[in-house]
Amino acid sequence: MKYQCPVCGWDGLDDNPDHHTFEICACCGCEFGYSDATLYPQDRPARLELLRKDWIEYGMKFWADQFSDLAKYNKKPDNWNPKEQVNSLKKTDVNTGDNAA
Ligand SMILES: [Zn+2]
Repeated sequence: MKYQCPVCGWDGLDDNPDHHTFEICACCGCEFGYSDATLYPQDRPARLELLRKDWIEYGMKFWADQFSDLAKYNKKPDNWNPKEQVNSLKKTDVNTGDNAA
């Protein structure tokens, strides 16, 4: 089973990103348990949102592409559409029901 990244919507994570796995998302480079760490659990959705905003502003690049050894195992799909990917995230709403919008 694969998990979806709550930051960028990439659905190729091996472990549940809610469980401080220290897995790095091949797409946005978020390291779960590190990049998304917050002092209080209730602050995590805002942290994830900030990471997403940064990734989008940085041009939605496929993170693993910049490392040749990683890119070998984390292939960017040929018809990859980062906008569609991040939009799919909003539909499923990963932020544990706390959606004030
Ligand atoms: Zn990601």
